[in-house]
Amino acid sequence: MEDRVLITGAAGFIGSHLCDKFIEKGYRVVGVDNLITGSLKNIQHLFKLPNFEFYHHDITSFIHIKGPIKYILHFASPASPIDYLKIPIQTLKVGSIGTYNLLGLAKEKGARILVASTSEIYGDPLVHPQTEEYHGNVDTLGPRGVYDEAKRFMESITMAYHRFHNVDTRIVRIFNTYGPRMRINDGRVIPAFIAQALKKEKFSLYGDGMQTRSFCYIDDQVEGIYKLLMSDYIYPVNMGNPEEITIRQLAEEIAFLAQHKCEVVTKPMPKGDPSRRKPDILKATELLHWFPLTTRAEGLKKTYDYFKKQLEEELITTEP
Ligand code: NAD
Ligand code: UDP
Repeated sequence: MEDRVLITGAAGFIGSHLCDKFIEKGYRVVGVDNLITGSLKNIQHLFKLPNFEFYHHDITSFIHIKGPIKYILHFASPASPIDYLKIPIQTLKVGSIGTYNLLGLAKEKGARILVASTSEIYGDPLVHPQTEEYHGNVDTLGPRGVYDEAKRFMESITMAYHRFHNVDTRIVRIFNTYGPRMRINDGRVIPAFIAQALKKEKFSLYGDGMQTRSFCYIDDQVEGIYKLLMSDYIYPVNMGNPEEITIRQLAEEIAFLAQHKCEVVTKPMPKGDPSRRKPDILKATELLHWFPLTTRAEGLKKTYDYFKKQLEEELITTEP
């Protein structure tokens, strides 16, 4: 029988692409999700496969899976600021209790576990670009603290299980990633701007739009995560695309792609919104020989086409 891989957050954006990747590589995939921000639509194509199992389960409750498991990828957690601001306690619980449960499962099964950390552990960074050695600048009491601190706890407990229980662990620090299967209304900037362009609305620009991010296309991200899991490196590794742009420039690029006029409505800057973000990916490049290959023009086009199709299907199903 094929080796089994357990993926939490399997019905979410990144988790569902990871399911595809491991199925493609010939593994048997066990997906777990409570569907709080994910959708079965993202994995419906997998249900007919004999090497895919799915458990509708909240991983903040004890998790027991029968049989051997070789790898665990822990990706369950709300990831969009509007999601984790709406469900702050669940966010804290899934990063802490959820991670604790999964590490326990890894220990019981003798499985290697990779946990999904985030660039948010650097908070509003004072070091630029962010290297793995930087300890961050997180406001524990700010609205984003529920996500950032849950992920910081996740990293600490993961290292503790490695040091005290010899669990074979990996930590990936993911920077802004985008692509098909994001929720169109999840509030993250790329789905928001593409939806606005498709509906011929003005772009909702927070603040003056001079804050920066560095956007990584999903296929590159998944390849990097796969390589890190298969490596021997146990310390955190940044995974993202180092090409940094302002949010205003992003609006212009999406307007160009959609042949839409770039008009904006300015909204207040959310509290704690980091002003700059760009990964230093020297570690990933040297250790894993990984580098993002998809240009923003290619990635945005694929994402735009996906959301266009989604909106067209939605229109068809909601027509009287
Ligand atoms: P997502 O919201 O699309 O997916 C998260 C999935 O986790 C959803 O399907 C949700 O239903 C599930 N989930 C949440 N709480 C759960 C629980 N208690 N039990 C079981 N399932 C639960 O988000 P995403 O963008 O795919 O992010 C996936 C992971 O990657 C998260 O851990 C996130 O913190 C991390 N990450 C993502 C990004 C990014 O840019 N997308 C950046 C940094 C880190
Ligand atoms: N943003 C924006 N308009 C939106 C959504 C987001 O201007 O409709 C900005 C937001 O303030 C942030 C950047 O885009 O500076 C990225 O936001 P996102 O929620 O995608 O990711 P994160 O803040 O977690 O990096």
